[in-house]
Amino acid sequence: MSVSYSAFTHDIDDDGIAVFTWAMPDRSMNVITLKVMDEIEAIIDQVVGDEEIAGAVLISGKPDAFTGGADITMLHMLQSACADKTPENVHVAATKLLEASSRLSRIYRNLETCGKPFVVAIHGLCLGGGTELALSAHGRIMVDNQTTKIGLPEVKIGVFPGAGGTQRVMRMTDPQSGLQLLLQGKSLTGKKAKALGLVDHLVASQSDLLPAAKSMLLNKLSATKSWDEKGYKPSGAANVYSRDGFQLWPAANALYRKQTHDNYPGARALLKAAYEGLLLPMDQALEVESRYFAQVLQTPEAQNMIRSLFISLQALNKGVRRPVGIAQSDLKIIGIVGAGFMGAGIAYVTAKAGFNVILLDQSLVAAEKGKAHSQALTEKSIKRGYATEADALALLGRISPSENYSDLSSCDLIIEAVFEDRNVKAGVLEKISRIAKLDAVLASNTSTLPISSLAGLPKHVANFVGIHFFSPVDKMMLVEVIIGKESSDRAVATALDFVRAIKKTPIRVNDARGFYANRSVMAYLLEAHLMLSEGIPAAMIENLAQQAGMPVGPLALNDEVAVDLAWKIVQVTKADLGEQAVHPEQEKLLHKMVVEHERLGRKNGKGFYDYEGRNKRIWTGLKDLVPQLCDPDLIDQLDRQEIKQRFLVIQALEAARCFEEGVVEDVREADLGSILGFGFAPFTGGTLSYIDTMGAQTFVRLCDKFAVKYGPRFEPNALLRDLAETNDRFYDRFQPASIAVE
Ligand code: NAD
Repeated sequence: MSVSYSAFTHDIDDDGIAVFTWAMPDRSMNVITLKVMDEIEAIIDQVVGDEEIAGAVLISGKPDAFTGGADITMLHMLQSACADKTPENVHVAATKLLEASSRLSRIYRNLETCGKPFVVAIHGLCLGGGTELALSAHGRIMVDNQTTKIGLPEVKIGVFPGAGGTQRVMRMTDPQSGLQLLLQGKSLTGKKAKALGLVDHLVASQSDLLPAAKSMLLNKLSATKSWDEKGYKPSGAANVYSRDGFQLWPAANALYRKQTHDNYPGARALLKAAYEGLLLPMDQALEVESRYFAQVLQTPEAQNMIRSLFISLQALNKGVRRPVGIAQSDLKIIGIVGAGFMGAGIAYVTAKAGFNVILLDQSLVAAEKGKAHSQALTEKSIKRGYATEADALALLGRISPSENYSDLSSCDLIIEAVFEDRNVKAGVLEKISRIAKLDAVLASNTSTLPISSLAGLPKHVANFVGIHFFSPVDKMMLVEVIIGKESSDRAVATALDFVRAIKKTPIRVNDARGFYANRSVMAYLLEAHLMLSEGIPAAMIENLAQQAGMPVGPLALNDEVAVDLAWKIVQVTKADLGEQAVHPEQEKLLHKMVVEHERLGRKNGKGFYDYEGRNKRIWTGLKDLVPQLCDPDLIDQLDRQEIKQRFLVIQALEAARCFEEGVVEDVREADLGSILGFGFAPFTGGTLSYIDTMGAQTFVRLCDKFAVKYGPRFEPNALLRDLAETNDRFYDRFQPASIAVE
């Protein structure tokens, strides 16, 4: 039978084994598109219909990966197509959505029950729908190395594996590990996947995959899964009405609530699909999964998370916000001046990305101390199996500590990260500018000083930008590229290229006090400080902020960034903008904390919390500084919902102000910046999506109510009032072309 495919090539050997090699000609990585689904269906038909074929292997022809999974823009388009919720359309749309979103699941079930065995052979990444394809096959082989991984990360974008993933994982591994895998969305190396029973064999290298896959088929691999055999009964906790089941499922539910505060419909549906599916035969179980999947796709949480955390993230990572017409930067040597807390972290991520780094400080000893940070991080990576000794040696070999500014003369980009002191920075930048190449780009990592005010450089006025990292540098994925009044497009493009090269997400921010992310963070901290002065117990503030969706309570966050830093910022703001720019209650609290009690935060083990090693507890003396309600009846009367709303509303409002002032100009950057920069409740899709989802009218009403109750900081800005009046949304009025609804 002669069949041709566009995404696959195929070949049938003398033993009747058909090898389908997946290598999409127009994509750098294989993805599951509608066309690929058609072709997988045709492959199943070919294998079943051709008597010559005894079994089949699916393998990738791409060098680095099996597949990145399903093309998520398909989901986004499905969601958009079902956005019309008018009564006459709602039923038709829901039926269409279910039909379309369950197609992949049906195809995989056909493959599983087609009567001939399939083996999936995996090298490199295999994610989402790719892993589900592998699970539906009868055999799985993986290369045993650090770059080969399988995973089901769907929960991270607000959905869950809806093509049989929940049902097969729960039947193939012990349910506790299975639930963990599904709910955390982490990827597994071959060794871990094999230990969980999710793959059958590991091979040493890519070239061993095909012989091993063929040998599995020649050894009479069964084409019937255990759960399709007569008399199959799930065992252990997979038998939900058993002793083991009773131990696992109530605890799993509690853990889900503890970790998500029930803010994620995708995770909630995942748990339900896993539990209910185990009570049913596979075909019905898959139907249950499909119905939950279609339901979840229609939730605002899934829609917002897919848009921000996948579509917008990809767009920003690909450089959609790069100035046009500027040649790609050719960066080789990066200078970093200041090898302290931030400089050392920047050196590590820069060297990790393959750049040579000159790490300069006031003395060689200080510069070497900065390099030691990279040493410590590489040792950790080796211990955890993320890097080899050779990787670590190469990385460290790329960092050259120095105390001589003349060593910066060959650098293409130089980032200063010295003390946050205008005079120190000005002196250092001037020295750098004297020695740097004329076409080098200079950058400051300042967190508070306007970039334009630092730009008095002799030779690099236009070649100067801000590159604002967040701490800890190796973990935080956001970097703000701060555009000063005189920053040239080339300087901005270079900074964006650099940030993308070190695998972080850049957003463009116009120069303004506090830039973007820190303005909202300060609003979050201020709200918590004022709640304390209202008498709301500290523990309640912390818990409710997390229930609202913030990853860290505001008082714990303040301890991490340093309480004295908040105090300094309040002082500088007062000096620059006058008394009225700071809240007297916050100033009073911070004065007591920092000046009177030396409560500086985690760095001296004493902040809003007391620290002992890795343990912390709220400082018992806090209630003496600011009296806290302790009468249970009064505490009970506090409006918890309102406290939660205050946290999100004040941050979103600050983001809306930044947007109106032009500090951020792109809705995607505002949203992603808020999630990646300060952990703004990810299920909302970001600050502006949060406003859009509740509607500007509701948001403005809420702000007005809070402004009367809690003060003018809640006054909505003119843009919000206008959006409310015209019943408009950020994503409609300011829709970037690349996410327009098709
Ligand atoms: P740090 O005190 O840990 O490090 C500053 C380093 O600069 C020190 O090693 C110091 O020896 C060196 N230095 C000072 N003067 C120098 C000179 N003349 N020449 C060479 N080196 C000199 O400070 P940090 O926390 O790393 O902050 C550095 C910068 O990063 C500041 O501008 C800060 O605002 C900014 N920043 C900090 C954070 C954070 O969370 N700490 C986050 C974002 C940005």
